Amino acid sequence: MSTTSEGSVYQALRGHLATLRLAAAAEALPGVLEAARAENLGHTAMLERLLGIEVTATEARRRASLERFASLPAPWRLADFDFDAQPSVDRSLVNELGTLRFLEDATNLLFIGPPGVGKTMLAVALGRAAVEAGYRTYYTTAAELAARCHRAAIEGRWATTMRFYAGPRLLIIDEVGYLPLPAEAAAALFQVVSQRYLRGSIALTTNLGIASWGRIFDDPTVAAAMLDRLLHRSVVFNIDGDSYRMRAHRARAEQVRKGVMAPSSR
Ligand code: ADP
Ligand code: MG
Repeated sequence: MSTTSEGSVYQALRGHLATLRLAAAAEALPGVLEAARAENLGHTAMLERLLGIEVTATEARRRASLERFASLPAPWRLADFDFDAQPSVDRSLVNELGTLRFLEDATNLLFIGPPGVGKTMLAVALGRAAVEAGYRTYYTTAAELAARCHRAAIEGRWATTMRFYAGPRLLIIDEVGYLPLPAEAAAALFQVVSQRYLRGSIALTTNLGIASWGRIFDDPTVAAAMLDRLLHRSVVFNIDGDSYRMRAHRARAEQVRKGVMAPSSR
């Protein structure tokens, strides 16, 4: 092949990569061709290397977009959770959930307990594991969900919004019960739970024991129907004990106290 025709083949190849929007491969092309010459790569090996670069870039983009979409409020991981500080949380059960098998049969997770005991941390850490495994995940608070559904109702986008909440493989609904839900918000939450029932997992955190769920809703029948669906296939964590935050405050206060006391006790 003459240099000119080789040059025009090369230009055509760049054109193909651009048309197919294989930007990473296009960018890597000169280097891969060079490596192929230097390492005496066969055609198959060279093509594999070129497309492999594109696949890696595509996967990284997909991961980044899943991560952005998930809107997780903190970078928490399961490995960061201090099980010794929270004996009411079953370590082996959490590790089992970490395998994400619960997503396969749309099992729901309920984290129930007072503020500061790690409910959000556990839900978010499992959410991160799900994102990293490639599952579409979405984090919201109950208040945000209510506000979004309220806007949707006003703007005539109710159905679209309901589809949005049905979409993710894992939906985290944080802080249910902190604020009383107006009837419209309760209806929205009920519909989200109903349409995901047996189709997609919900990880829900709440400060209200199951017995007092009637209080979130004006209508105890709605509360009962929703609990039915949530609990049918579920893992429930009843977390009690001290607030981890308070524990940290206390430890710090203790240290400060010691620091203050130290000179006089010497
Ligand atoms: P909750 O949602 O139950 O109110 P969070 O999950 O927000 O509590 O936890 C409160 C704070 O304490 C967070 O900064 C969290 O990282 C930390 N925390 C709580 N429990 C633990 C734990 N067992 N190990 C490590 N950090 C914890
Ligand atoms: Mg929380």
